[in-house]
Amino acid sequence: MMKANVMVVEDEGLIALSIQRTLRNLGYEVPAVVASGEEAVRQTLALRPDLVLMDIMLEGDMDGITAATQIQECLDVPVVYLTAYSDDHTLARAKVTGPFAYLIKPFEEADLRSTLEMALYRHGMERKLKESKHWLETTLNSIGDAVIATDAHNTVAFLNPQAERLTGWRQEEAAGKPLADVFQIVDEATRLPPPNPLNRALETGIATDLANPTLLVTRDGEECPIDDSAAPIRDEQGNRMGGVLVFRDVTERRRIEAELRRYRDYLEELVEKRTWELQQAKMAAEAASQAKSEFLATMSHEIRTPLNGVLGMAELLLGTSLNNEQRRYASILVQSGRTLLGLIDEILDFSRIEAGKLELRSVDFDLREMLEETAAAFGERARAKGLRLRADLAPDFPTSVRGDPIRLRQVVVNLVGNAIKFTETGEVAIHLRLLERDVAALIARIDVTDTGIGIALEAQARIFESFVQADGSATRRHGGTGLGLAISRRLVRLMGGDINVESVFRQGSRFWFTVRLMTSGANEQTAPSPRATPSAGVPTTFKARVLVVEDNAVNQAVATAMLELLGCQFIAVDDGQQALVALDQERFDLVLMDCYMPIMDGFETTAELRRREPPGQRRIPVVALTAGVNKGFRERCITAGMDDYLSKPFSREQLAAVLSRWLDAPGKAGETPGAEPGESSRGAGNALPRCSG
Ligand code: ADP
Repeated sequence: MMKANVMVVEDEGLIALSIQRTLRNLGYEVPAVVASGEEAVRQTLALRPDLVLMDIMLEGDMDGITAATQIQECLDVPVVYLTAYSDDHTLARAKVTGPFAYLIKPFEEADLRSTLEMALYRHGMERKLKESKHWLETTLNSIGDAVIATDAHNTVAFLNPQAERLTGWRQEEAAGKPLADVFQIVDEATRLPPPNPLNRALETGIATDLANPTLLVTRDGEECPIDDSAAPIRDEQGNRMGGVLVFRDVTERRRIEAELRRYRDYLEELVEKRTWELQQAKMAAEAASQAKSEFLATMSHEIRTPLNGVLGMAELLLGTSLNNEQRRYASILVQSGRTLLGLIDEILDFSRIEAGKLELRSVDFDLREMLEETAAAFGERARAKGLRLRADLAPDFPTSVRGDPIRLRQVVVNLVGNAIKFTETGEVAIHLRLLERDVAALIARIDVTDTGIGIALEAQARIFESFVQADGSATRRHGGTGLGLAISRRLVRLMGGDINVESVFRQGSRFWFTVRLMTSGANEQTAPSPRATPSAGVPTTFKARVLVVEDNAVNQAVATAMLELLGCQFIAVDDGQQALVALDQERFDLVLMDCYMPIMDGFETTAELRRREPPGQRRIPVVALTAGVNKGFRERCITAGMDDYLSKPFSREQLAAVLSRWLDAPGKAGETPGAEPGESSRGAGNALPRCSG
């Protein structure tokens, strides 16, 4: 332990010497021994001893008490007075200087020691106390929260500057006042004073928060929202010593909270509004899409009906004796009619795909055969342009597959049709190969190449988009809708594959696509592939009586003229009621029934006809004549009791194919898969997939 420095102030030389000796004996350092008050002040300030042993009665103007007073004004040094006698007046003066002890002369060495040690110890403790008090005050003064401390009687003991600012009370004014005077609060909702939070904290013994929104009423009557907590202060024995209240102004926080609430409400409202708008937009889009589909279906129906007349009559005209010029005109009529039909089909397909309404069928067919027949159908067109048409279709894998041959053929037809359209010299080729195969399925790749005009690189990426043509100029030489490739890509993707192009401008193009097809079982029956042309072998004359039920005079004329050319006898009526009368009176081998007619439509007429047929008797085949493409058409036909249908416009060959199906081998309806009614005019006649008779 370091030796304490004790300065001696004593004007009697011998006593001073003796004290100095005794102190040194006791282990203290004595940095100076002085004899006057002035000297004592000077030396203390200069040497800063740990303690001053001060004689009260000193010679000169300044006695020990005055010297001690001056020293303590500048330095925190403990002073122990030495006195030979102690009158009351002197003691009273000395007391004011806060001496740490008095030693009455003469004193024993042990007394000196114990007095000095006590004084040094007490001074050390007081210094620590002062320091920690200062530290606490600084802390409380510098925190952002307001703090009020109370004593055991709930009177205010301390306010930090924040508390002064919020309450409007200064520490000096508030100290000693009841807490309720300084810290006035009311419940914001009820305007009543809430229970004193400090009392609650004292009751429960734990820190508590204000339960409800509270307003602090300041000294000058202003109100401010606060948040607060209170905690009890207890001594070591648990006795209540007071409490401490911590509170803060929450005006700004309230403002931000209110702002946030406003924003949240605004956002919620906005989201609700946008959701509603989106729903409306979605409903409007759905309604528009529905209207578009209906419009296209209606338009298709309306265009097909007169087109049936145009094409039918033109084909009939071609069957008569014409001179060359007349024949050329009639051929152009037929060709243009078919092109128009193709466009209608394309637009309808597109709208169906867009609406997600196109469903693929799944039937067994032979992929190679289908491609061969498709290629063969283009033979004449290629020859007419002087092009070579090559089909490399002898793949080294079994090509019995299950899938949608009509849609697959549609893609090939589009690619080969384009290849011929955009090639002036050279060759168009179709190539089939196997990419992958497992037990259940295979992935085939079909390439269509040409030596035509090619496609510029920048156009290649866009030609699969709808309504895009590489040559979009008004002067372009080739017709088309710009939908074929867009439809092909959607179809191919629906079939689990993709389509691509490679092309060199002015040198030619290669389009290829992949398709995933289920592999057919070896024993399964393979359906005939969809035909590009009616198969050879269909009879051209029939010995049959046919009832034609058709309200449109032109279409009635087309149907009856074709029947006549096919050697049939017929009767034509204009509506369902007349048909039922005719069927009652005469025997017919087949009925060609238009679907939409005035008075009694084809569905109702067929249903009535089926009701009238005696059970067990072979029922008469009814073939629907339709330009309709409405959803559910097929179900309607089946429900009504129809067996087959012919899509308008139909050719004589297509009519012959349907007649041969029902007149040669009646009752086969369920065995021959057919296209969905109204789905495509590419195959004009198809039996409905149900058993009849
Ligand atoms: P369309 O042929 O009815 O215009 P498609 O979608 O089938 O529509 O084709 C889009 C465009 O792609 C064509 O207009 C043409 O510019 C280009 N195209 C397609 N196939 C070929 C090809 N084999 N050679 C050159 N250009 C082609």
